[in-house]
Amino acid sequence: MTTDITIIGAGLGGLTLARVLHVHGIPATVYEAEPSPAARSQGGMLDIHDYNGQLALEAAHLMDEFRGIVLEGRQALRVLAPDGTVLFDKADDGTGGRPEVQRGELRQILLDSLPAGTVRWGRKVSGARTLGDGRHEVTFADGSTVATRLLVGADGAWSRVRPLLSSAVPEYTGKSVVETYLFDADTRHPAAAKAVGGGSMIVHTPGRELFAHREKGDTLHAYVGLTEPQDWFDAVDFTDAAAATARVAKEFDDWAPELTALITDCDTAPVLRALHALPAGHRWDRVPGVTLIGDAAHLSAPNGEGANLAMLDGAELGKALAARPDDIEAAITAYEEAMFPRSAEAATFEGAEAHGNDSDSDPIQALLAALAGDEQTR
Ligand SMILES: Cc1cc2nc3c(=O)[nH]c(=O)nc-3n(C[C@H](O)[C@H](O)[C@H](O)COP(=O)(O)OP(=O)(O)OC[C@H]3O[C@@H](n4cnc5c(N)ncnc54)[C@H](O)[C@@H]3O)c2cc1C
Repeated sequence: MTTDITIIGAGLGGLTLARVLHVHGIPATVYEAEPSPAARSQGGMLDIHDYNGQLALEAAHLMDEFRGIVLEGRQALRVLAPDGTVLFDKADDGTGGRPEVQRGELRQILLDSLPAGTVRWGRKVSGARTLGDGRHEVTFADGSTVATRLLVGADGAWSRVRPLLSSAVPEYTGKSVVETYLFDADTRHPAAAKAVGGGSMIVHTPGRELFAHREKGDTLHAYVGLTEPQDWFDAVDFTDAAAATARVAKEFDDWAPELTALITDCDTAPVLRALHALPAGHRWDRVPGVTLIGDAAHLSAPNGEGANLAMLDGAELGKALAARPDDIEAAITAYEEAMFPRSAEAATFEGAEAHGNDSDSDPIQALLAALAGDEQTR
């Protein structure tokens, strides 16, 4: 079977591409490894920026639906010192350009906007090869295959499509985060809830940081960042939730109790996420009939841009294909020529500091300076 446009991965990037193509009357098929839309909690809040993620939603004709899921008040931001001193505190006055939504709700909007059957669930790709005539053949874990005129890898960090274009492999960034959740925080964890406030809170020291935000309702979701080699984490038994929590909390034992509560009072087992990145400025020479979007193309350490960029990539590729329906190569070339510099620039984006991703020896001063600059440019 040969299909025209085949997208691997039903994350935010792949779904945005499928949606923008649909808006322009172009069919596509999305193959997703997960067995169903509900297979995995999508977790987390995302701020969707007016300069990239929202542009993608406009191209997808989904801005009204997006506004309907924005969590009011969540653009508030606090920066605290490890002893709990408040260094920066900005309320959400409704004028910010980064409204927050639950990732799962955003994904659902995109799924609901596609014709039934567009996403084929439970289709894990094991590899892909060129057929030599601009077409590619995709092989699935069950041994079945599909050939396609345009193959788009939207399959994230460990893309099975990327090897057709590049030998680059993500490398460990030197930092991992441990995710925790505290439920019904206003009543059950009031000190931590007060420290986090109505939106996001950052505490940042060299090698140790806390980034927490208030999700829907009064759930607190924290990313506990530790700059350590991977064998440090290998020595922690994350299958033993209590022991792992205690080991991580030990690294913060001189921090204020309302902050360490984000670790010790965790209502779920702590989840370890090792952070990997592709080389900065990752790019490839044009190969007919195949390209990449989102993390598959430019995985970077979290800097608040990845999901936004994945959506923008999907929208821009969709628009390029719609503008040149008879010349796929010209469309991909136009998309890639804009995407390479855009993603390289984002990897060094100033917002990296706001996500505790800078390498400055005095990170909190760098962060406060960045926030002060941001205030002045408003
Ligand atoms: C801790 C953390 C916090 C983050 N916070 C933010 C944030 O605040 N803001 C922001 O913008 N970004 C954030 N990011 C980055 C963001 O999550 C990613 O950049 C974004 O999800 C990339 O989207 P994508 O569609 O390219 O890939 P993904 O979201 O990874 O989607 C890829 C899809 O492909 C599927 N897939 C994978 N392999 C296969 C296969 N072999 N066959 C078929 N399907 C496959 C997967 O199941 C998945 O559904 C964060 C990342 C991390 C790790």
